[in-house]
Amino acid sequence: MTNAFLPTSIVGSLPKPAWLAEPEKLWSPWRLEGAALDEGRRDALHLAAAEQALAGLDIISDGEQTRQHFVTTFIEHLSGVDFEHRETMRIRDRYDASVPTIVGPVARTKPVFVDDAKALRAQTDRPIKWALPGPMTMIDTLADKHYGSREELAWEFARILNEEARELEAAGVDIIQFDEPAFNVFFDDVRDWGVSALERAAEGLRCETVVHICYGYGIEANNAWKETLGEEWRQYEEFFPRLQQSSIDIVSLESRNSHVPIDLIELLRGKKIMLGAIDVATDAVETPEEVAAVLRSALPHVDADKLYPSTNCGMAPLSRPVAAAKMRALVEGTRILRAELAGSPF
Ligand SMILES: [Zn+2]
Repeated sequence: MTNAFLPTSIVGSLPKPAWLAEPEKLWSPWRLEGAALDEGRRDALHLAAAEQALAGLDIISDGEQTRQHFVTTFIEHLSGVDFEHRETMRIRDRYDASVPTIVGPVARTKPVFVDDAKALRAQTDRPIKWALPGPMTMIDTLADKHYGSREELAWEFARILNEEARELEAAGVDIIQFDEPAFNVFFDDVRDWGVSALERAAEGLRCETVVHICYGYGIEANNAWKETLGEEWRQYEEFFPRLQQSSIDIVSLESRNSHVPIDLIELLRGKKIMLGAIDVATDAVETPEEVAAVLRSALPHVDADKLYPSTNCGMAPLSRPVAAAKMRALVEGTRILRAELAGSPF
């Protein structure tokens, strides 16, 4: 899908401009309403794409400028969901959040991001990537009063996600990414139906597909959970073999400042690896050499032509100057490695 060697991209979100939403805050409420909000979101999408192009990224995304939350904004567009009567639920067994309730059969009555994707497509000739929530992560962000079965609801969401994904592909999206941080918590469900539901969401797509997994943003509840995981984070070992056998093309995971042993990606041999070489939980901007060192450390375990340099996770909580500097560091660090590998038979 991309001609670049070691093609660079961000995982997903970028900080929003201060006129659109309160800065440096995750899931920040909008500062505009009605038609002004629609126009503001679209302007922000174009800015986010321009900033990525300016930084020199090879694959451009929307920076998730038109959504407040990576899951609920998608769910808001579905029927069968009641947003008025919210329930407090524990998310990934870690923190409480007020979530909407499923009160009837879920259906996608209209496209969610397709117009936004067309706007991004019109702006750039580079490959574009679009992120959607994965089925398991969606059901983990809802209270269900209708289906009574996590698995049944996951298959419903997989069908709905597939409808959206096919339309995104038709709109010119080159890479569709499913965010599934819940894979890292519910291992039995991942094995029994999680990966299968994800494959259903990607069924029939000709564009490339990504699954992004991670240990979450640097918010307090996640940091407290990470404290309990010990020195080496080996949770991925539980489901990487199943992902390796799946129909998904690319696996996106964190590496910079992470406790995930890099040799775990050996379990994914044959897949493309979108590797996080930028820590999104700190304002400290990586040097190009630090970025190159992370990418270099992966080379014994992934063919160089299958390595996609990226960020650990979304950058929404950072300031705009820091996010821009981190994107430049990613590009410059990747150039170091490209120069090293030039002419070598990888
Ligand atoms: Zn993530």
